Amino acid sequence: MKINLFLFILFFPHLLMSQSLRDSKQKLVTLSEESINNNEANLFTFSLDFKHETPFHCASVAWTENHEGEKPYSHFLFSFSKDSAKWTPYESLFSDEHAIDIRDQFATNLLFFEKEYQFVKVQVVDENGKVRQNVSEIKINFFSPGMETVSNSLQETVSEKSSCACPQPKFKSRVDWRCPQGPTSPSITTVSHLVVHHSAGTNVSNDWGAIVLAIWNLHVYTNGWADVGYNWLISPDGTLFEGRGGGDNVMGAHFCGKNSGTMGVCLIGTYTNATPADTMMAKLSEIFAWKACQRSIDPNTQTFHASTGFNLFGISGHRDGCATECPGQKVYDQITLIRKTSQNKVLACSATATKQWPDGLEWINIRPNPISDIESYLDVYLSKTVPFLFQIINMDGQILMEEKPLIQTGINAISLKNMANLPKGNYAIKLQFGQKVVTKTVVVQ
Ligand SMILES: [Zn+2]
Repeated sequence: MKINLFLFILFFPHLLMSQSLRDSKQKLVTLSEESINNNEANLFTFSLDFKHETPFHCASVAWTENHEGEKPYSHFLFSFSKDSAKWTPYESLFSDEHAIDIRDQFATNLLFFEKEYQFVKVQVVDENGKVRQNVSEIKINFFSPGMETVSNSLQETVSEKSSCACPQPKFKSRVDWRCPQGPTSPSITTVSHLVVHHSAGTNVSNDWGAIVLAIWNLHVYTNGWADVGYNWLISPDGTLFEGRGGGDNVMGAHFCGKNSGTMGVCLIGTYTNATPADTMMAKLSEIFAWKACQRSIDPNTQTFHASTGFNLFGISGHRDGCATECPGQKVYDQITLIRKTSQNKVLACSATATKQWPDGLEWINIRPNPISDIESYLDVYLSKTVPFLFQIINMDGQILMEEKPLIQTGINAISLKNMANLPKGNYAIKLQFGQKVVTKTVVVQ
């Protein structure tokens, strides 16, 4: 019997893991056009029966509306009660800029409410507070994340092999924050731009894992997406959470449908008027430095982002590519500082990495990477004149170009403009300093 149990644990550890999932509760309600039209006040009352241990409850709405112009006419008023006798004042919930990008379909962000409230009134109203009748379907999603049953430590992961030594920061994985599902058919993208967001939700919580789970639930059940939209999320206490599943370079859903080439990081909270915490901003520059270093992204340089058709900085705000206030004015006020801090971290990591490097080579950088049809350079920073052989090699190992550049101390900018004529794909740039070799991957788009 003991042996059987041992084998069970050996081969099915995920089944044991599922026992430590949160005790989440969800109530999904669909109101048809008929039921909306038959309800003259457009006022609906629900009993949740979420009587369990949980840090909070939250609600969100998705709806279909016949309308003109960018924004929907409708929004929603919520009132809560413990006993269905005494009710809270109404709170408004509007359509969210991060949500669905389909004509006539809208979704709100999360509305958080206290776990003691078991009864909810929802009213559909227009901008003047009057009842609308042009809404054809409303889906209301009530969610309660449940309590964390097992505390766990941060996972350490090994980053992609790279000539840069910026480590991937430790993070809470999807297992750590109790994501109920694995990745759903993830697509991989070549990351060239790093995008910062805010969640436009609560700035206060004693259970950030529960907030991440609630954002996942919003994106999956209200927005109807395959998975959480952001690649990473950071809570105000500086904890980094893994977002969309599928590993490094997975394409998220956070940039108005133009996600290819991006990695999206969400600062949890609303930073329209609130100043973001230093610990959170430090973690943001850490994750940006890791990715910028790995993908040779220059945070301070604008490069073409094909999906949006804009020239975007290596580190940009959501509002730089889409019509939104995100990442909040107080974060956006710091965007130059975020770029500078991230870049400084990359340079500091590169300096550490060069200890195992050829004597005299301080750092190398390709700008921009991926290479498109604009001027591209390999910058080689030398602290003394050490000659090297420069090669461009394709994935079959063929040497496509080879030269011994004329060098000087300081930055040597080697033009890569001929690479723009190569077929799209990955190439290696190889620098040979006597016996020591440094390689870097470059992408032609
Ligand atoms: Zn955003």
